[in-house]
Amino acid sequence: MGSDVAYNFIFKVVLVGESGVGKSNLLSRFTENKFTLDSRTTIGVEFSTQTIQLGQASIRAQIWDTAGLERYRAITSAYYRGAVGALLVYDITKKPTYESVERWLSELYDHAHPRVVVILVGNKTDLESNRSVTSEEAKHYAEKKGLLFVETSALESTNVEVAFNNVVSEIYRRLGSKEV
Ligand code: GDP
Repeated sequence: MGSDVAYNFIFKVVLVGESGVGKSNLLSRFTENKFTLDSRTTIGVEFSTQTIQLGQASIRAQIWDTAGLERYRAITSAYYRGAVGALLVYDITKKPTYESVERWLSELYDHAHPRVVVILVGNKTDLESNRSVTSEEAKHYAEKKGLLFVETSALESTNVEVAFNNVVSEIYRRLGSKEV
């Protein structure tokens, strides 16, 4: 008995952030190693699952993507309900997407698990010459707010696994130390 258990934990993780920052591509890069140049047209919540091994524990991350709903401010509290992790994504070349991070953070704190682990993700580092948000300011903001922080490129596949794995291992660490 027990040897047929495929995983020990399921964590719900949500992707949030403005439209066009690369949420869907981060997810498809992580779960299927795929990237698409077109913005997606499908509307509606979707999720993918990925199993992450942390020492002896197999963790199944159920990762939810807004799939465009944020464009219409149509994300409901059901999207956040029970989420223990979040990737809060902005585009390093688009300052307004960084400026709205604060608003996304308060949505998360209003509706997700009270101890939700948030990683601030600055995506599109392959477009360095168009950068409008410095790493330093974002890192400083993340530290001030108690968030994890990473910069990624879904296009070049830089730090994508790091982003998802860091959030999942931090949730697991807090669970072990009974902080959740
Ligand atoms: P979402 O609306 O946040 O889910 O964003 P999408 O994943 O649909 O991406 C929006 C657009 O940005 C698409 O045209 C993607 O091809 C592009 N994109 C996403 N990630 C990156 C990246 O890391 N680098 C570059 N250059 N483009 C990206």
